[in-house]
Amino acid sequence: MTDAATRLAVVRAEIARAAKSARRDPGEITLVAVSKRRSVEEIEALIDAGQRDFGESRVQEAKEKWPALRPLYPDVRLHMIGRLQSNKASEAAALFDFVHSLDRISLLDALATAPTHPPAFVQVNIGEEARKGGVALAELGSFLDAVRATQIPLAGLMAIPPHGLEPGPFFAFLNELARRHGVAGLSMGMSSDYPAAVMLGATMVRVGTALFED
Ligand SMILES: *Cc1c(COP(=O)(O)O)cnc(C)c1O
Repeated sequence: MTDAATRLAVVRAEIARAAKSARRDPGEITLVAVSKRRSVEEIEALIDAGQRDFGESRVQEAKEKWPALRPLYPDVRLHMIGRLQSNKASEAAALFDFVHSLDRISLLDALATAPTHPPAFVQVNIGEEARKGGVALAELGSFLDAVRATQIPLAGLMAIPPHGLEPGPFFAFLNELARRHGVAGLSMGMSSDYPAAVMLGATMVRVGTALFED
């Protein structure tokens, strides 16, 4: 196996192990390979190994790498996981299959008026951090109502727990918020904590380093 294939097999096995320990079907969990700052060659090695979902955090970078790859691999799905400027919303909606970072009304308005409407996860400021993106907890209900009033399919909730704290309680809390608000998907978990996220209900994990570096 190539290094990329080995790393992919390890991450998939970890997801399956975590899912089984929580009595979940591993097939419910989508692994999104976060390919920001990775070269087209590194990406193709993972595609060759069988990976199909990829995440990018910047529209400009995605535009430089993916238009050449897309026609070669029509079953690849692209996920926008980073902060999205409203003036790039139309471009992002055309380029990506999912948006994980819908976090404010101005962006919702921009996406709603775009010609295409990829499903979107609402990013929640789960740790109530002043400097982090995401909808405030107190505003989540009204924000979800606003999303539901548009043509944008609501894919679920997304969050990034505060740096340096045990992530488990934040994953459990995001799961509880999704249940309370009748939302199905949960985009949570990165290289350092995706097994915990899977045990606590993640339906999409966003993994970069563990897939691209030894
Ligand atoms: C970079 C990034 C990831 C992946 O992080 P790793 O620690 O490399 O797995 C996941 N989610 C978001 C929003 C990111 O920006």
